[in-house]
Amino acid sequence: MARVYNFSAGPSMLPLEALKKAQAELLDYEGSGQSVMEMSHRSKVFDGIIKDAEKLMREIMNIPDNYKVLFLQGGASSQFAAIPMNFMNKNNKADYIETGVWAKKAFQEAKRYGNARVIASSADKTYSYIPKVTKEDIDPEADYVYYCMNNTIYGTKYPYIPETGDVPLIADISSCFLSEPLDVTKFAVVYGGAQKNIAPAGLTVVIVREDMLGNAMDITPTMFNYKIHADNDSLYNTPPCFTIYMCKLVLEWIKDMGGLEAIKENNIKKAKLLYDFFEESKMFKSVIPAEDRSLMNIPFVTGNEELDAKFVKEATAAGFINLKGHRTTGGMRASVYNAMPIEGVEKLVEFMKKFEAENA
Ligand SMILES: *Cc1c(COP(=O)(O)O)cnc(C)c1O
Repeated sequence: MARVYNFSAGPSMLPLEALKKAQAELLDYEGSGQSVMEMSHRSKVFDGIIKDAEKLMREIMNIPDNYKVLFLQGGASSQFAAIPMNFMNKNNKADYIETGVWAKKAFQEAKRYGNARVIASSADKTYSYIPKVTKEDIDPEADYVYYCMNNTIYGTKYPYIPETGDVPLIADISSCFLSEPLDVTKFAVVYGGAQKNIAPAGLTVVIVREDMLGNAMDITPTMFNYKIHADNDSLYNTPPCFTIYMCKLVLEWIKDMGGLEAIKENNIKKAKLLYDFFEESKMFKSVIPAEDRSLMNIPFVTGNEELDAKFVKEATAAGFINLKGHRTTGGMRASVYNAMPIEGVEKLVEFMKKFEAENA
């Protein structure tokens, strides 16, 4: 079996151990005589799976008891509307930090439901850096401050958690979920799509402080109302059962790896291999300021579009797939989520060195 190294920004690689476990259990989950794909979401067996997934998520992320962990559908993009509907509920105002297309889409959606405002943006330089935000930029009457922690397309990450005082802080953590320890208590809500670092596509995880719930706008569709899902333990309707099961397997893998401290150490090693190479290379370089660099999504360029295309083509043929950068940024991007093994990055760097020597 030849597996490629998949550098896609999402859906992305899953840990081989989790895939193998799923394969072994595919036809008969723990003696139930059925696949998780087939079983009732109201069955005892599935109840064990979703409870285990939640328990592991709480343990690994150190999530306090006054937070709910919701397993939803609709992707991160549905939350762009659900967030204002559920939380823009006191003064009908919210402050947004615009660090890329995902943050901008969230802002545009919020504007449809209330008074949303951009308080900082890096749009002037194609979102290639993280704009500074201080407490003074924030409206103390805002119902919340919203930002995207890791900007998947541009390869930037907030090097600090913005200080918002008493204003609740909400973060899209889609592409850095479970990539390193996170102090959940600093946030009112964090959420993300699973397909980057948690599971296959189809699951969206929302972690929300309980006091935030219960004041959704009247117009909020039932399926967008977080309180409904919280009160029903994510079983108001049929949840993405198999994806939740995969999430459980990935969390077990993270635990076996030594938890988020160990995962972070591994992620730093992988990112360093690439960033160090860009320092020494005369052909490949990073365009992101050192302090704003993501550990998960690492864009790079040669400065020559034809050379970029040649590189992507030859890399693909060599088994390093999905390295083409986003259509809005050009160049290349290596997404190195948790499941990308260190050998994958080592081999990619070797390949880049060879390519540079051949094309100098
Ligand atoms: C991928 C991504 C999204 C969009 O996720 P969907 O699940 O496809 O809606 C939103 N925000 C960030 C940061 C992402 O990486």
